[in-house]
Amino acid sequence: MDLLEYQGKQFFATYGIPVSDGEACSDVDAAVAIADRVGYPVVVKAQVHTGGRGKAGGVKLAENADECREHASNILGLDIKGHIVEIIWIENASDIAEEYYASFTLDRSAKKHLGMLSAEGGVEIETVAEENPDAISKIHVDPAEGLSEADCRAWVEAANLNPDANDGAVDILMKLYDAYTKGDADLCEINPLILKPTGEVHALDAKVSLDGNAVFRHEDYAQFDATQPRDEREEAAHEKGLQYVGLDGSVGVIANGAGLAMSTVDVINQVGGEPANFLDIGGGANADVMAGALEVINNDPKVKSIFINIFGGITRGEEVANGIIEAMKRVDIDSPIVIRLDGTNAQEGREILQPALSDTLMMEPTMLDAARKAVELAS
Ligand code: GDP
Ligand code: MN
Repeated sequence: MDLLEYQGKQFFATYGIPVSDGEACSDVDAAVAIADRVGYPVVVKAQVHTGGRGKAGGVKLAENADECREHASNILGLDIKGHIVEIIWIENASDIAEEYYASFTLDRSAKKHLGMLSAEGGVEIETVAEENPDAISKIHVDPAEGLSEADCRAWVEAANLNPDANDGAVDILMKLYDAYTKGDADLCEINPLILKPTGEVHALDAKVSLDGNAVFRHEDYAQFDATQPRDEREEAAHEKGLQYVGLDGSVGVIANGAGLAMSTVDVINQVGGEPANFLDIGGGANADVMAGALEVINNDPKVKSIFINIFGGITRGEEVANGIIEAMKRVDIDSPIVIRLDGTNAQEGREILQPALSDTLMMEPTMLDAARKAVELAS
């Protein structure tokens, strides 16, 4: 679950991380009322599920009510990288002496949490990461041991912040680690983490992603459901009872069983392709399920070929084959299909499919051959 900035800041605040006083709203009059309350100058900030809002004109400073009104009306409705702004956050503006970057995330290959801190934060952090990775100070934290204050301080000192910021940074980063672990987050990022001219350290932005599998431990996370970004493909698939995750590639995937679907995604990558989705049709590969799956994938304009990967178990090969043939009568498919059928009664299934094969419906003997074929057709 990806939080909007203001939700992230409210999440941070519950762990004692200092954030600016502010409030979210969806219209101009409310924005001015909030600004009057929190005190000028204020910052008017677009609340969308993407970064780079500042550069896109979605973060503006207002000295008075007129400016607040003007910025609020310009930002509401603004298109930021395809995200239309419907919510804005108005907060009391901060004076900035320096801008830093701080985050915690999971380093899967190290099997540890990874903290990153840089003295060169702000809107250009991606460039820093690419061109000057040494400017990012890193710490790996063993989840079983946690983060000690001494290790945190050594990490902060290695980042070469303004020494005036060190105490405040240690305090915030200990709290950020707490929020990240106790809050079951996958990512907690503050960019910029600022040093004020008065010496305080403060979170000026918040990017938080919570682990959806941990929601059962946090009843209050239900409040974030309404603002989750929606993938229309996923919603259509879930309505049909399919296990579907949308991805960005061009090879549509249909497999029976989550393990096989994951392997299919892997093997497509392995032969140089990009999967468009993960789709597990489960145990039953009958015509209804197959037609539903093909429909969902066919509606994705990025799909250029479809790989149906079935390993018959309880579901027998001939049922699958009949399901595919029947489904293709019901759905008008725009992309070529490559089938790999193996497992229980695979031979019977292949015989049923044989007469239906064409240059838009192909069958390959192995998973790897089929993946290669599907990737070749997609490119
Ligand atoms: P992002 O561009 O989506 O990451 O949005 P941010 O919330 O990080 O804001 C972008 C930039 O706007 C920050 O790096 C700051 O330079 C500036 N900014 C944001 N809030 C304030 C503020 O309260 N005071 C001042 N002076 N600048 C701000
Ligand atoms: Mn930012």
